Amino acid sequence: MSMINAWAAKSAKGKFEPYQYDPGPIGPEEVDVEVEYCGVCHSDLSMWDNEWGITTYPFVPGHEAIGKVVALGEIAREKGLKPGQRVGVGWNAYSCLYCDNCLKGEQQLCTTVQPTIVAHHGAFAQQVRSHWVWAVPVPEGVDPSSAGPLLCGGITVFSPLIDRNIVPTDKVGVFGIGGLGHMAIKFMKAWGCEVTAFTSSSKKYEEARAFGAAHAVSSTDAEQLKQLSGTFDFIVIAVNVSLDWENIISLLKPGGKLHLVGAVTEPIPVHAMSLILGKKEISGSPTGSRSQIDQMFRFAEHHKIMPKVEHFPMSRINEAMEHLRAGKANYRIVLDADF
Ligand SMILES: [Zn+2]
Ligand SMILES: [Zn+2]
Repeated sequence: MSMINAWAAKSAKGKFEPYQYDPGPIGPEEVDVEVEYCGVCHSDLSMWDNEWGITTYPFVPGHEAIGKVVALGEIAREKGLKPGQRVGVGWNAYSCLYCDNCLKGEQQLCTTVQPTIVAHHGAFAQQVRSHWVWAVPVPEGVDPSSAGPLLCGGITVFSPLIDRNIVPTDKVGVFGIGGLGHMAIKFMKAWGCEVTAFTSSSKKYEEARAFGAAHAVSSTDAEQLKQLSGTFDFIVIAVNVSLDWENIISLLKPGGKLHLVGAVTEPIPVHAMSLILGKKEISGSPTGSRSQIDQMFRFAEHHKIMPKVEHFPMSRINEAMEHLRAGKANYRIVLDADF
């Protein structure tokens, strides 16, 4: 087996350096994908820093890969994938397909799910390997150079629209207009919803409207929030910082839903009565199922929805990661493989 060229950090926050590894023989259900592009996600940064205590080094990040199938195991080649076909590999690389969650079609909740960058080499590399179920065909009409961020950030904000039964007549809100939030606006606008963007930066109002928001509002001005009280069916939280939770819940209509996709680090204090009286819900979700990724790709193709990205050659990975850490990503970064 030939060696795979990759970029790896040997320690938390350590510089990324060229790294080679032998992936070993391909398993029967596995697919090898030659990486063309890979998005950079905030989770790559958290894993690099070992923020969650689960990182193994040398660490090869990258879980928003777009590339071409270069090898298929003997079972994988019976699953509709062809050599040379363009596919995407996102946050998850393996799931068992026989646990209760897998059988229900929620492979992302598999009890033994194997993420692409946890104890597995990711896609800031020439090649990435996954189970065939997570090598998702990319439709012709989806621009491969921008599509990477759909595979983690995109599906994370798309799957709640299906799971939480969002309908076009819903009034929806998005808190946090960044990598996730800007994709949420685009998807929900195309879904038919009237979207309000909530952001702490008034500089982002105009761009939020360009993404499809009908309204842009301060996320921190308690007075403005009070005026919108009781007017939303669904609110997505796409930030990881604490907010004025009671005020945000009061934005919901009776029966309204508050949904978390941002990993807010502090507990969320909520009065039971704030939920009980209006029959309101708080929920959260990680990425999405394989079928939802397929649905997202078709929806993105049909509605011409792509994340807003900026490109770095993969060889400038250190610069790209610092750009992300500094909060300067506009709005997602894609690395172009240049081995
Ligand atoms: Zn499973
Ligand atoms: Zn991610």
